[in-house]
Amino acid sequence: MKLFNTLSRSIEDFEPYTPKEVTMYTCGPTVYNYAHIGNLRTYIHEDILEKTLMVLGYDVRRVMNITDVGHLESDADDGEDKMLMGALREKKTVWEVAAYYTDAFFMDCEKLNIKKPNVIAKATDYIDDYIVFIKGLEEKGYAYLANGNVYFDISKFKDYTKLSKLDLETLKIAHRDDVEEDAHKKNPHDFVLWFTKSKFENQAMKWASPWGVGYPGWHIECSVIALKNLGEQLDIHCGGVDHIPVHHTNEIAQTESFTGKPWTKYWWHAEFLIDESGKMSKSSGEFLTVSLLESKGFDPLSYRYYVLNSHYRKQLAFDFEKLEMAQTAYKKLKRKTEALMPYFNKETNLSEEGHLLSDAFKMQLADDLNTANAITVLYDVIKSNISNAEKAFLIHQMDFVLSLNLLSNGDSSEVTSNPEDAVYVEEMLAKRKEAKKEKNWALADAIRDELKEKGFEIKDTPEGTTWEKC
Ligand code: AMP
Ligand code: ZN
Repeated sequence: MKLFNTLSRSIEDFEPYTPKEVTMYTCGPTVYNYAHIGNLRTYIHEDILEKTLMVLGYDVRRVMNITDVGHLESDADDGEDKMLMGALREKKTVWEVAAYYTDAFFMDCEKLNIKKPNVIAKATDYIDDYIVFIKGLEEKGYAYLANGNVYFDISKFKDYTKLSKLDLETLKIAHRDDVEEDAHKKNPHDFVLWFTKSKFENQAMKWASPWGVGYPGWHIECSVIALKNLGEQLDIHCGGVDHIPVHHTNEIAQTESFTGKPWTKYWWHAEFLIDESGKMSKSSGEFLTVSLLESKGFDPLSYRYYVLNSHYRKQLAFDFEKLEMAQTAYKKLKRKTEALMPYFNKETNLSEEGHLLSDAFKMQLADDLNTANAITVLYDVIKSNISNAEKAFLIHQMDFVLSLNLLSNGDSSEVTSNPEDAVYVEEMLAKRKEAKKEKNWALADAIRDELKEKGFEIKDTPEGTTWEKC
């Protein structure tokens, strides 16, 4: 498996700390509003990463956090408190807002066939652990108290910019826009580990701590949740590219300072989905959600298909016309694959050509997750001369990763039709095709009637004849 590593800015051979076992951490959603389809693009690609590793024989343990505590509007420790904004907007408590949007997020994931991680960790469930972690940093001299808040001192951590590759001056300018500098910090890039003083007097989520009643900084949740659930050394850490300069940079600084060991081996980042404004944000007014796509007549899996035709490291410009084209292609593909459904048999033996196609599919995914090329291999399977049983078998295998419901509508009972039926129907359809070619309409109709009598409904479509058992 080859994977691009943001840390080295190059494609590397994937070698986890423990052979064949992979620990994977995913920055989860901030649950103060619905996820937009940009967020979900990142989660679709992460889902492909996890399932590819599984298909390649790795045992994957994946953890995702849910940011249900005051993550501020900007990645630095400034701006508005997002959870509070959501609560004020909806006249609910912050806890109600978090619960509602956490459920909404997993419902969207289900519609997009995104697998649930092994562990889903709410940030608010780890408060005691943050306190232990911060105390540890204090003891080691990495943290200091200023104006009531506990800060991480970045000057104590060698190589603070190893992930971002930005010099601190550039970072400073990048942050300048909306930063209200806390004059008590030693360095402008020092970040908060624990707040007791903030400009949000009406913060609803507060806990007692050795430094006073307050709440954790944002970056700390990912470090602590990953450490607690996946150990001190992590194989893959995922997220969108926006997290590189601040959030992930700060996670590395505090985690490696705490453990004294190198932490994440592979930093995996997905590029952004952008709209015509060049940005997709859920903080501002109307934004694109899965429900909005559905209300416009799109199947969420058409969006998944659209996303999989792009590479995760390339920006994707969203456009309804292209989504429409993707939906047409996806539906056409599904008609073809569903027609093969009755041939599916999990005991099928693959021919040499079948093995080559199976390997070609895995090779594309193992090549830094080339999903678009993997889909091309899927089309090669459909066009190939292997038997229908082999085709169905391979499509079933490929759909484990692609998760496009290619052989069923998500209901596995649909792929268990009797292969003998399929052989019979396909023979009859071949005879009917021959009859039509010879303009023997009476025979063609008689064959259709006979099939109907035996319980098989056939449909003539522009892509050929399909059938189903009624
Ligand atoms: P958030 O809920 O804002 O914390 O974001 C959840 C995930 O979506 C993070 O991994 C972000 O990096 C990612 N993300 C945010 N905006 C976009 C976008 N426009 N396109 C793709 N991923 C995004
Ligand atoms: Zn995170």
